[in-house]
Amino acid sequence: MKPPRKLHIKSYGCQMNVYDAQRMVDTLSGEGFVETASADDADLVILNTCHIREKASEKVYSELGRLRAAKEDAARSGREMRIAVAGCVAQAEGEEIIRRAPVVDVVVGPQSYHHLPDLLRRAETGARAIETEFPAEDKFAFLPQPRPDAIRARGISAFVTVQEGCDKFCTFCVVPYTRGAEVSRPVAKIVDDVKRLADNGVREITLIGQNVNAYHGEGTDGRSWPLGKLLHRIAEIPGVARLRYSTSHPNDVEESLIAAHRDLPALMPFVHLPVQSGSDRILAAMNRKHTVRDYRKVIDRFRAARQDIAFSSDFIVGFPGETREDFSATLALATQIGYAAAYSFKYSPRPGTPAAEMRETVSAADMDERLERLQGLIDSQQSAFNKAAIGNTVDVLFERAARNPGQIVGRTAYLQPAHVMASADIIGQVLPVRIDSLERYSLLGELAPSAHPTPAESSQTTTGA
Ligand code: SF4
Repeated sequence: MKPPRKLHIKSYGCQMNVYDAQRMVDTLSGEGFVETASADDADLVILNTCHIREKASEKVYSELGRLRAAKEDAARSGREMRIAVAGCVAQAEGEEIIRRAPVVDVVVGPQSYHHLPDLLRRAETGARAIETEFPAEDKFAFLPQPRPDAIRARGISAFVTVQEGCDKFCTFCVVPYTRGAEVSRPVAKIVDDVKRLADNGVREITLIGQNVNAYHGEGTDGRSWPLGKLLHRIAEIPGVARLRYSTSHPNDVEESLIAAHRDLPALMPFVHLPVQSGSDRILAAMNRKHTVRDYRKVIDRFRAARQDIAFSSDFIVGFPGETREDFSATLALATQIGYAAAYSFKYSPRPGTPAAEMRETVSAADMDERLERLQGLIDSQQSAFNKAAIGNTVDVLFERAARNPGQIVGRTAYLQPAHVMASADIIGQVLPVRIDSLERYSLLGELAPSAHPTPAESSQTTTGA
């Protein structure tokens, strides 16, 4: 029997890339690959790239420079190392990568991971293989299911892709070009995936998609189902204690999603709803297709359905043409909504997007100052939100042993890390925790008296959040 080959994947960016990396591992395990934590001793290194952050391609080339040295070392010791670039930078700049980086053997776009084994075989003949088309077939039909031991090793939370691509064409964003048009997976396939995960110990499912609430997959009745209906179906699967979804667009929040928040205890009351700017003028320039008022109305609908709901968001500061007044409107909106968390970034152009051609740029100094002010505001909101948990008893889904001996860490409904002293038996259970204090972003507490598992309970898992 041939010894297993070693695979190292370095993944950047969003949850979708984390999920894709796992599916690549599943695909390549059928080819005799096992994962290794170090690139240096790998037979195959995959850089699973992200195009969202600033200077994404520069970072890929500098990482490839480091890998070239590792590849040369491997060759000197008589071992062949192959290097693949996957993800959105591969999709956007595949030919350029092949031209500029001779160290790369394979370039594969996000819609073609199921072809990785073939591309590798081609690379093993000495050819360099590139695939960045959007193939006609559905990659999900070809990707193998993860093995039960791989699911268990990945822990009690899992991502499931339900939708890919985006038709919105915000002027700053590369996703519609790198991930293609919106495609939704059929309900039956998603249900099968979730059942398999739940059967192997997964308790929390996050449905992911670039524009997840535009989901419109074929339902079990042959009709198109919206996300809310899909969530209702998944909540029925035994073992699923918690449900989440990400990332949503304000324009696609339809009634079934609001109803799901009202009716499903398993659906966590924490919604990531990017707004990007609090100025209608800038939202129009971004082609977000909604106004500040529309956004506020959506927030109100969620809040009317579930009072304890909290929000996170994404903001871009310094979009071309953003004035002081526009930025003040962003601060005003953030103040008004009151976020539990948010991600904010300075605008940086992505080649090929309409915003990259806009000339009214904001100075670096103004961007820095605006980012600092916005982040200061969001930090204070987040810290107030976290402090409000002190003295309360909250449900925590326990995930793993913490770094401190004897501590187990889990997450609240709002994804706040929460630590308690307890035995590892509680991993995988949702238990009430009395929160005593806050250390930076982590809550510290103790299991509420009713939560201590008796010996008879300790081998069971609870089913509700
Ligand atoms: S909705 Fe999101 S993914 Fe789609 S173009 Fe806009 S920012 Fe990009």
